[in-house]
Amino acid sequence: MEPPAGECDLAVVGGGILGLAVARELHARRPAARVAVLERGAEVGTGQTGANSGVIHAGIYYAPGSLKARMCVAGARAMYAYCEEHGIAHERCGKLIVARDESERGRLDELERRGRQNGVPGLRRLAGEEIREIEPHARGAAALHSPETGIVDFAAVARSLAAGLEREGMPVARRCAIEGVDQRGGRIVLRHAGGETIARFAVFCAGAASDRLAVMAGAPEDPRIVPFRGAYLYLKPAKRELVNGMVYPVPDPSLPFLGVHLTRHIDGNVSLGPSALLWPRGTSELTWPGTWRMARTWWRTGVTEIKHAASKRSFAAAAADYVPEIRPGDFDGGFSGVRAQALARDGTLVDDFVVSETERALHVRNAPSPAATSSLALAGLIADRVDSLAPA
Ligand SMILES: Cc1cc2nc3c(=O)[nH]c(=O)nc-3n(C[C@H](O)[C@H](O)[C@H](O)COP(=O)(O)OP(=O)(O)OC[C@H]3O[C@@H](n4cnc5c(N)ncnc54)[C@H](O)[C@@H]3O)c2cc1C
Repeated sequence: MEPPAGECDLAVVGGGILGLAVARELHARRPAARVAVLERGAEVGTGQTGANSGVIHAGIYYAPGSLKARMCVAGARAMYAYCEEHGIAHERCGKLIVARDESERGRLDELERRGRQNGVPGLRRLAGEEIREIEPHARGAAALHSPETGIVDFAAVARSLAAGLEREGMPVARRCAIEGVDQRGGRIVLRHAGGETIARFAVFCAGAASDRLAVMAGAPEDPRIVPFRGAYLYLKPAKRELVNGMVYPVPDPSLPFLGVHLTRHIDGNVSLGPSALLWPRGTSELTWPGTWRMARTWWRTGVTEIKHAASKRSFAAAAADYVPEIRPGDFDGGFSGVRAQALARDGTLVDDFVVSETERALHVRNAPSPAATSSLALAGLIADRVDSLAPA
């Protein structure tokens, strides 16, 4: 569809899973309003939504009471219901979180406590010898099993959301990059190559570009997005039977990523990853004070990640800690995805979802994992704020 030059009631910038979920929710609440989605890419769901692990997280990791925890548990439920209703392939293949040795038992206890407090369904604690009942090739001192953790292709969900909007007559414009934001006559003006889209209110869900667009609309610079590239290796088809569902190590609680894990995907592949490397878009990350403060704190972790990125051997060795049969030669091909991670001026990696306001607009400024899982629930929260800022 051509960029919708002209007027609409509500505009959503960004056709990732979150922007599309927000547009769907706004349309459901205000059927008479014209809701338009403006996406830069040639297709929806090609940003983070199209290159991720595809895990419907159950909500184990997150601090009880945090937005992340509440949105993940509610979002996973909504995601399964959406996939069932719309015939999107998905599977509750379950996840095992393994304490590799006694030193990790305390952290596993903490994850169990968090998971139970967050209301994660079906959690079960396993002793070391019970691990093989779930994952015959995994080993460890103890484990936590989450049978409700599942897999899906989030890009397929995004395409389905876009098709649903279009069926209802709501435009989803592709190749429509927003290049400027102005205010005129009590409306917000979004400039793009096709002209201008003028709306009563706009919601920006622009992933890696969210900071740039927010600043364009008058928001402060803090937090800045720093992209992290996560690389994954695929197990050779003959080795896929080493894993039934997902096997994760107990993560380092102070890091936002989850350690090198094995994940089954809905297309049959099994991946090992990620490595997480800072992946600058240009010089802007390097001039942000937070980048250097973060680097001073995390340089040791950075060295490990560079080793993983450079060597199948070191990557495989990390996985062999909990699936001992894995060898460096077991991999062929893989994929990578770039996380849009918000970084504060003081060098803190922002952990929770962040939504901020400018005139006639809301900006999602941090939507890290598990935002794909949480998207349908987060959309409700964002629509509540639109309702209070721009009542129908
Ligand atoms: C490697 C990796 C693994 C992950 N694993 C998981 C997982 O297993 N489970 C999970 O729940 N989450 C996971 N995540 C996180 C999840 O993918 C994201 O949180 C989620 O996709 C965010 O969706 P989004 O719509 O906000 O962003 P995106 O999908 O990035 O969408 C933003 C959209 O905005 C568009 N855009 C940007 N600039 C403009 C502009 N100027 N004008 C118009 N449009 C613009 C982009 O083209 C893009 O389509 C993972 C992420 C990565 C990178």
